Amino acid sequence: MLVDYHIHTKKCGHARGEMHEYVEAAIARGLPEMGFSDHMPLPYLPLDEEYVMPAARFPEYLADAARLQEKYPRIRIRLGVEADFIPGYTEQLVQILSGYPLDYVYGSVHFIDGWLHDDSRFIDGYQRRGVDNVYRDYFRLVQEAAESGAFDILSHLDLVKKFGFRPQRDIRGLLEETVAAVAESGKCIEINTSGLRKPVKEIYPGRELLELLFQASVPVTLGSDAHAPEEVASDFDLAVALLRQVGYRRIATFRRRRRYLVDL
Ligand code: ZN
Ligand code: FE
Ligand code: FE
Ligand code: ZN
Repeated sequence: MLVDYHIHTKKCGHARGEMHEYVEAAIARGLPEMGFSDHMPLPYLPLDEEYVMPAARFPEYLADAARLQEKYPRIRIRLGVEADFIPGYTEQLVQILSGYPLDYVYGSVHFIDGWLHDDSRFIDGYQRRGVDNVYRDYFRLVQEAAESGAFDILSHLDLVKKFGFRPQRDIRGLLEETVAAVAESGKCIEINTSGLRKPVKEIYPGRELLELLFQASVPVTLGSDAHAPEEVASDFDLAVALLRQVGYRRIATFRRRRRYLVDL
């Protein structure tokens, strides 16, 4: 069984397509289950209008997902969010999240000290800070995000490779530390196929990292990070092939923030 849990919508300001169009795309792809995970508005985010959903839109997002589940009984529709990890705000985040009937919460490290490292407008930061430093800072934040316990799924675990910048230093130790932190947290990661549509042209996480995660028994779920309806479940054949090669036979699904493993 396959799911696509990483789906954005027009409501965040930089994705295309209404929510029902994503549902119809998921049905057309034959998915038995899908989930929305749009960028969640958070009061302490260094905000950019077209980066997360405006706060006023969030109730509508929740209501629309519930309405769509009634309208499309042939697919299970889960409701999640993608939330940014910003150090020092865990308590506030946990408090905010507890007020909503969410099935799962993705945790993402998009910001390194206020720098949006995955936005091509600010790509000069890699040279300015030095790629090795960026990798170190990024993975330390991922470790902190895991340790925070605030998230059910850690998003695109090696997102820092998005533009194809590779470290000069050997980062095996950094990856091992990261995997240990994720395993210790008891949380889940995702296979995110959007990297194939980015300059790096690689799934997140890459094979070496995924092998370490498998050895550490970290569960995995599946997401396309769709920002357009036609991207739903994109390249899932490659994702499943990679999972199987590495040894995974089950994926994680979520309901009301509880995790269930199902056969691939
Ligand atoms: Zn987005
Ligand atoms: Fe993201
Ligand atoms: Fe996303
Ligand atoms: Zn994402």
